Amino acid sequence: MKQTIDWASDQVIDVLIVGYGPVGAALAALLGRYGVQAQVIDKLNDVLMLPRAIALDNEALRILQMAGLDDQSFERVGIQEVRMRCPYLGEFGRVNTRGTIDGHPKLVTFYQPDLEHALRRQVEAAGSIDVTTGTELLDLQQQQEEGVVATVRNAQGQQQTILARYLVGADGARSVVRGLIGQAFKGETYAQDWLIVDAHHRDKASVDHVEFICDPRRPTPHMPAPGGRERWEFMLQPHENAKDMEQPEQIEKLLAPWARLSELTVERQAVYRFHARCCEAFQKDRVFLVGDAAHVTPPFVGQGLVAGLRDVANLAWKLAWVVQGKANPAILDSYDTERRPHARSMIRLAKLMGKLVMPTSAPRAIAIHGAMRGLRLIAPLRSYFEELKIKPPNQFRAGLFQRAKRRGGVVRGAQLPQEWLRTDQGLRLSDDVLGDHLMLVGLGVDPKTRLTAGSCQRWEAAGGQFLHLGWRGQAPQSDSLFAEIMGNNLMMGDASGWLVVVRPDRVVMLDGEPEAAEKLISQACALLC
Ligand SMILES: Cc1cc2nc3c(=O)[nH]c(=O)nc-3n(C[C@H](O)[C@H](O)[C@H](O)COP(=O)(O)OP(=O)(O)OC[C@H]3O[C@@H](n4cnc5c(N)ncnc54)[C@H](O)[C@@H]3O)c2cc1C
Repeated sequence: MKQTIDWASDQVIDVLIVGYGPVGAALAALLGRYGVQAQVIDKLNDVLMLPRAIALDNEALRILQMAGLDDQSFERVGIQEVRMRCPYLGEFGRVNTRGTIDGHPKLVTFYQPDLEHALRRQVEAAGSIDVTTGTELLDLQQQQEEGVVATVRNAQGQQQTILARYLVGADGARSVVRGLIGQAFKGETYAQDWLIVDAHHRDKASVDHVEFICDPRRPTPHMPAPGGRERWEFMLQPHENAKDMEQPEQIEKLLAPWARLSELTVERQAVYRFHARCCEAFQKDRVFLVGDAAHVTPPFVGQGLVAGLRDVANLAWKLAWVVQGKANPAILDSYDTERRPHARSMIRLAKLMGKLVMPTSAPRAIAIHGAMRGLRLIAPLRSYFEELKIKPPNQFRAGLFQRAKRRGGVVRGAQLPQEWLRTDQGLRLSDDVLGDHLMLVGLGVDPKTRLTAGSCQRWEAAGGQFLHLGWRGQAPQSDSLFAEIMGNNLMMGDASGWLVVVRPDRVVMLDGEPEAAEKLISQACALLC
């Protein structure tokens, strides 16, 4: 007999997250900040201890900042340089990863279980998120107008149903959710296997940069990580198998160029086959896919987890605004529009890097690496690679913003640059001042003074707030939140200032002259409704 569901009951949660890996945990932490009632389930009871992500870029660190994590939350090692070496030609490529972008180092290494525990602490602190481990999703049914009925098996082996308005599949590369919504995982699986070895406490100083030893006989990326750790990734030859290569005597042989096995402790090792795959759509009605459930990439540019973090930063606030009645459910369609093209671009970049890292023969290595070395002689091409300009910018072509010609440093459909601010609580990064809000930011102008009381109320009803970022020496002009800009990243407009509508994920929705304040509010509300 068909069960009648009371969708108006308290038993219906707003969001069910399937998977408490790093991406599911980051989503839960963000939803917690927005005050959304959500439940996370995971079939496992604790974080996975396999050697997986090791590198994060400035964009990932900025999203983790958004989720409430700071420099103290988990340990990192700042990487100053990536060097690529060919056995026949010597060094053929370098990437400069010194310095910061938007307040964060360009590249760090970290220990994934450490990050996952930090995210879980953040989720626990949020208060509105219920976490149930040892519980596996078995099935889901969507009821178009109402929500999703999820069938799960709990830790006692019993089947239960969970009712949710929306469901997010953060259940990894073998996603059950992806299968249940009928999404194919298109792309390719690489023919090669890779042995990953994490070791720690070598007596001698560890390497202080990332090195790619691009030897066709045994390509090997090698890098330092927190806690005196080092990571080696060894490509296996077709005749080698995982079981044999994981044996201590084999690992000893592989590590011999760097250290004897007696000089370090091998913490963990695993053999992987890498994939480059992406779904055709990241959403089916009330169900969304994030992280490895939506896309997987070979790790040569360290972007798998980073892409998942971009997914959840994009989706979390939209879900929050919808379930809290501040925006129309139609805005959720922009998640796929905004995220999928960039995820695909990153996979393409990783594939290109794979060609550099693992040429299949000595002649190919000499040809590819020789060409790369030659390109370094041409200054613009050298800086294209060395300064990471090859990395696809995280700027949307279409989505929940209004397109316009770029003016100055503020780009619609891309994140507002982060800047140091002087506030009454001392120096703070601008994202921390923007907080978890949709914000009308006045650069050098108090936005509230340009609006009628009615427009202010309309903006607040849409979850909007006001922030006056004054130039050095400017004073607050109303009860808008106020801070003083300490750098030049946000210089926009003339002396009368500039207005920017910034989404909670820091993406610029709209911008314009102070005279356009009323119009900007109307346009932003129209985009949300
Ligand atoms: C060797 C290697 C190196 C890498 N290096 C990097 C790097 O340097 N930088 C980077 O950004 N990325 C890197 N990655 C990728 C990164 O590790 C992944 O992208 C990331 O861990 C994916 O996180 P996730 O939360 O999407 O999925 P997962 O971590 O796989 O989590 C999925 C969770 O869902 C749960 N689950 C699955 N099915 C169900 C179900 N039916 N019901 C309930 N729960 C379920 C699982 O138990 C799991 O906890 C690397 C990966 C590998 C393998």
